[in-house]
Amino acid sequence: MVRTRFAPSPTGFLHIGGVRTALFNWLFARHHDGHFILRIDDTDEQRNVSETLDPILSGLRWLGLDWDEGPDVGGDYGPYFQSQRRDEHQAAVATLLAGGYAYRDYATPEELQAERQAAQAEGKRFIYSRRWMAETTEQAAGFEAEGRTAVVRLKMPREGVCRFRDLIRGEVEFEWAQEQDHVIQRADGSCLYHLASVADDAAMEISHVIRAEEHLSNTPRQIFIFEGLGHEPPEFAHLPFVAEPGSRNKLSKRKLDKYLKNPDFAKMHQHGVAIADAIGLETAAETFNPVIVDFYEKVGYLPDALVNYLLLLGWALDDRTEFFSRQEMIEYFTLERVNRSPASFDPNKLLAFQEHYMQEMPAEERLLLALPFLEAAALLPSPYVDDASRYVTEMLQAAGDRIKVAGESLDYPELFVDDGAFPYEAKAFDKRLRNAPESVALLRGFRDLLAATEPFEAVTLEEAMRRFVESEGAKIGQIIHALRVAVTGKSVGFGMFEILEILGQERSLARIDRALSLVETTPS
Ligand code: GLU
Repeated sequence: MVRTRFAPSPTGFLHIGGVRTALFNWLFARHHDGHFILRIDDTDEQRNVSETLDPILSGLRWLGLDWDEGPDVGGDYGPYFQSQRRDEHQAAVATLLAGGYAYRDYATPEELQAERQAAQAEGKRFIYSRRWMAETTEQAAGFEAEGRTAVVRLKMPREGVCRFRDLIRGEVEFEWAQEQDHVIQRADGSCLYHLASVADDAAMEISHVIRAEEHLSNTPRQIFIFEGLGHEPPEFAHLPFVAEPGSRNKLSKRKLDKYLKNPDFAKMHQHGVAIADAIGLETAAETFNPVIVDFYEKVGYLPDALVNYLLLLGWALDDRTEFFSRQEMIEYFTLERVNRSPASFDPNKLLAFQEHYMQEMPAEERLLLALPFLEAAALLPSPYVDDASRYVTEMLQAAGDRIKVAGESLDYPELFVDDGAFPYEAKAFDKRLRNAPESVALLRGFRDLLAATEPFEAVTLEEAMRRFVESEGAKIGQIIHALRVAVTGKSVGFGMFEILEILGQERSLARIDRALSLVETTPS
């Protein structure tokens, strides 16, 4: 059975690149009706694991990348926390020692350093002489009598090549001579990553290790450990990394300042910051960063958009470069179709996916996405509290594709706040109302017509307006801008007649009256 795993360390955040790795593991497992396993590569020193783990689990859950085995769900191959397998790691070290795949090394750091320097002086690559290697208990006792302590090192082959087939890169070859005798256990008895990772992969019967390409060069020593443990190595597939916008360097959480120089990235970030500010969320770079998945959840992106975008960031199905349902992704996903070179993170493309999925979404679901944002910003329509859902649904419909991300529903606060409370853009108010007596006169006339218009719907209102300007011998432009500023306080926005309909007759008139009286009481 196919068994893949995603093995994050509990770092407190889920990186976009990490999610892509998780997604490909998930898809591969689902495609083969296998198991997707979540293993937490924590170490004993990591205290407070839940604080640093929860964001990772909740991010994966939000994206719908469910795991068959792992934290919370358990499974037959637990424990799923690396730190809980210490005994097995010790046993693995013992097996490697007994099989001659590892040895105790009693060299002091100074002695190793001297060897390293000597090699450097001769212009040679450092190869440890194994002078303080103990392979028998007598040798070990001898070194210990001198007061030395040991680490355990792999006894790596020094000639020949390690060859394996990477499912993405094809045949890969590494010369054994390029490898060091890597330490797998420290003097205090704790084990290092390579040992722990391989022992866990073996214990969990992982069939395919699909991971970031930075681990490619770790693979020979891991294959060596598998062999020493008498375990068939899994298949390996190394994914090219997710690159920075507009470059081929690896996307990093720490380079936000640099990415903000990219206009598309900066736009995406600023936009997110505006939404976060409106609902009082922290926006420090540490936690609020488009390189971290949490960002998208916070500002109201859709998991399907992110998943679809990440799928195509490094994978393609012939010339199909657009939308895939989860079912289709699972059906078509193969590792052979993964690109070998890195793909750059492209905020605009992600936004295009977001727009698509948002428009596809039924109104009721869009409403459910928008409501928490409006609520958090204290923007639920107060005169309509009993029927907030209808009001917001109409507002979302009228806004159409202007609301691409759920948090963007906050871009129209004027439609929610009390009719007597929203601010006017000063410049627009002066231009369209205060210094436009003709427009004001027309608006006054139209106001009375509105008071008599039934039903108060966009179509009838538009028709009323058409008749009104005709009878006045005016142009629509002479009144529509004034009307917009009076009703919304702004010079731009979506369909004027739809806004009137959403607000309803009473509120629309109240707004117009407020603007008119403001013009009268504070003339220019
Ligand atoms: N915990 C390792 C990492 O986050 C896992 C590496 C692997 O997949 O083998 O890089």
